[in-house]
Amino acid sequence: MQKLALIGLGASGLFALKELAGADVEVHVFDVGPTYEKRYACPIDQGKLQVCPPKACSYCAPGQSAGSWNDFKVILSASPVIGGRLFDLIGEQELQKRLDMVRHTILDHAPCEIPVVKPNAEDLEWIKKRATMAGMTYHYQELLHCGSDNAPAINTSILEEIKAKGSNIVFHWDSKVVSVSRRSEQFALSFDRYRNPGDEKEEIFDMCIVSVGRGGAAWLTQQEFYKALDIYPGQVDIGIRVETSAYFTEEVDKRFYEPKLYYRSKHSQDVVRNFCSNPKGFVTPENHREYVLVNGHSKMYEKSENNNFAVLVSKTFTRPFKDPQMYSQTIAKIVNMLAGGGPLVQRLGDLRAGRRTKSLVNNLIKPTLEAECGDISLAYPHRILEGIIEYLDALDKICPGVAGEATLLYAPECKSYPDSISLNKNMETNIPNLFIVGDSSSWTRGVGQAATSGILAGEGVKQKIKIDAPSKLVPVG
Ligand SMILES: Cc1cc2nc3c(=O)[nH]c(=O)nc-3n(C[C@H](O)[C@H](O)[C@H](O)COP(=O)(O)OP(=O)(O)OC[C@H]3O[C@@H](n4cnc5c(N)ncnc54)[C@H](O)[C@@H]3O)c2cc1C
Repeated sequence: MQKLALIGLGASGLFALKELAGADVEVHVFDVGPTYEKRYACPIDQGKLQVCPPKACSYCAPGQSAGSWNDFKVILSASPVIGGRLFDLIGEQELQKRLDMVRHTILDHAPCEIPVVKPNAEDLEWIKKRATMAGMTYHYQELLHCGSDNAPAINTSILEEIKAKGSNIVFHWDSKVVSVSRRSEQFALSFDRYRNPGDEKEEIFDMCIVSVGRGGAAWLTQQEFYKALDIYPGQVDIGIRVETSAYFTEEVDKRFYEPKLYYRSKHSQDVVRNFCSNPKGFVTPENHREYVLVNGHSKMYEKSENNNFAVLVSKTFTRPFKDPQMYSQTIAKIVNMLAGGGPLVQRLGDLRAGRRTKSLVNNLIKPTLEAECGDISLAYPHRILEGIIEYLDALDKICPGVAGEATLLYAPECKSYPDSISLNKNMETNIPNLFIVGDSSSWTRGVGQAATSGILAGEGVKQKIKIDAPSKLVPVG
């Protein structure tokens, strides 16, 4: 039987594994995190901590698979712009088919009924008209919002089903894959304990699925095979987490939960978009050890009075510059430096007036995250902030109040994506039998498409096994 290494059991890895459970291949799964049952919810959400600990607690850093444990919003529509670029790789129909598989799996394993958020004809007309009048473009999407509180049950239940079916699977929890290098047509993996290293081992595999997420993107670039891949520079999104009153957005929230509204800035023609809306949710820190970003989430049961969402400005670069990730991380570190180590918060009115925010004591919008008050314009490029302010002014025409003085802006909210890797329709690279899936491939940007890419790789591996199988059959008699 051929041996396959699956590196990373986040959204993409889990769905690849689901495809491979019971297949004619020996699958070894490596993840730096503990087994799913031992993964915990964010200690801030649980009320155990007030602020993010100085060292990342593995909740949003590698080890917890982020989005499929935190908020767990799943975009179910095959869109050319939302959630990733698989639309360009496999086309609308094939993408929709896999997204439907993801939807059914999640709903089958959900501990309670999770409604699919789907706009009706009247709502669509409502938003299209308002968006056009505001100079914005609306992109259709259906989504599931599972909530951070349902995530452990769903993930654990999917994994239990896989285990029950998958006698061909060996799990290596709390194991960091240190390196992957080619040995002729095979792959040599060295791995060690993540938390208490000092027991490095090596094993040889015939195939490899790399699903290390955005958190593993830098690791990927260090691997022996990386230079042999067909790659081109990725994109960065630099933005702000906006927190405002849920009253200002309630009409839109009620109809859509999260309408995708795109805008092209007059100032620099940059594409500006909203991302990750959390009606009645909470702003959270996202601790990456070397820097702290902001994010947001919401829960099925506990609610705040605010809405938070990201407004992101997308940037791609041309030669000679080739390190967009370092660019966005540097901006994040400058913000953290100004804030004494964490995120900054500023009132929109203060940003417009060119002054720092000193206190939020009497502010109309009460923050759900304790962040240092300050001046984001000391760290962010002018064109980025211009784009964000223009976006909020346009959005104010649809949700009156959001561009008010009291609206809170948290920074840094930066998303950097790995380099783009050329892949075939089953996520296989130009190196035969090496598949790269999920956010580490840069083809996906969310749970839905990450999971889809895992399914595609799983299908690709099964096809290969089928093709290889006849040649290995020993003729009877
Ligand atoms: C705080 C937060 C909230 C988010 N919320 C949402 C949301 O609600 N909806 C949405 O669609 N998207 C969300 N996202 C984005 C989403 O998390 C990703 O798009 C998605 O998880 C990508 O899946 P993946 O499998 O590529 O990577 P991940 O899910 O990140 O999984 C990568 C896995 O690889 C493991 N790993 C990494 N390196 C190694 C190594 N060297 N050895 C062994 N294991 C390794 C990690 O432990 C991890 O389990 C969120 C992201 C963050 C950070």
